[in-house]
Amino acid sequence: MRIIAIASGKGGVGRTTITANLGIALSELGKSTIIVDASLTTPDLALLFKLERSVYTINDVLSGEASLSEVLHVGPKGVQIATAAMTLEQIKKVSPERMAEVLRGVPANTDFVIIDVPGGLKRETIAAIRAAQEVLLVATPDMISLSDCMKARLISEFLGLTTIGVVLNRVRKDEFEIGGNEIKTVLNLPVLAEIPEDESVREALNKGEPLMVMDPRSRAAKAIMNLAKKLIKTKGPKA
Ligand code: ADP
Ligand code: MG
Repeated sequence: MRIIAIASGKGGVGRTTITANLGIALSELGKSTIIVDASLTTPDLALLFKLERSVYTINDVLSGEASLSEVLHVGPKGVQIATAAMTLEQIKKVSPERMAEVLRGVPANTDFVIIDVPGGLKRETIAAIRAAQEVLLVATPDMISLSDCMKARLISEFLGLTTIGVVLNRVRKDEFEIGGNEIKTVLNLPVLAEIPEDESVREALNKGEPLMVMDPRSRAAKAIMNLAKKLIKTKGPKA
């Protein structure tokens, strides 16, 4: 089993979009996959699956009132989803630090656990990263995002995680953009995928249907599918 944190430092770069669609892609490729919303104070993953009315969430697991298997929803292609609660009362009751312990309880036949890590340097951010073994960094091709990505990498490596590489999202290949090769050199990390800026991502969000389901032939969906294939080929740290 591989537990992978999708982290970035900066918010709004596509972590939730990538977590959701990568989870579906891995499931479609036959891998038993669980995706977890660890953005406890800014929970968004449920919105991408129209699961925002879920009664049981990861908050109940973190507060010790339910087991992980009790709160998992089965989504497209069989991906299993643990959403986070949206109400303030539910948000207040959790101890983010229990995330690692909770994820140690995932069924042994699980191939991948993908964690949607919140931005910044909050308690919940550190707790989410600590719960993983590997980190996949997400950045947009601009200096601010890349600088924040480096911070996320330092924290992850300090906590003993293996950095798999970077996913560049919202790539437009315009005049002012920093190119994939340049980023590879600056970060000294492989760029595992370049996901284009694609209107279908927002269309899917508005429809409450994941991109992989709404338009698997879109450019962004194809890039995420290729990322899933690459991840399967790379060996986990304990493999
Ligand atoms: P994060 O979880 O890092 O805060 P999100 O996944 O919520 O980021 O994405 C932020 C916004 O950017 C959302 O409105 C999303 O629809 C949009 N977005 C993400 N990736 C793309 C893309 N490749 N093309 C177009 N819009 C995108
Ligand atoms: Mg998010």
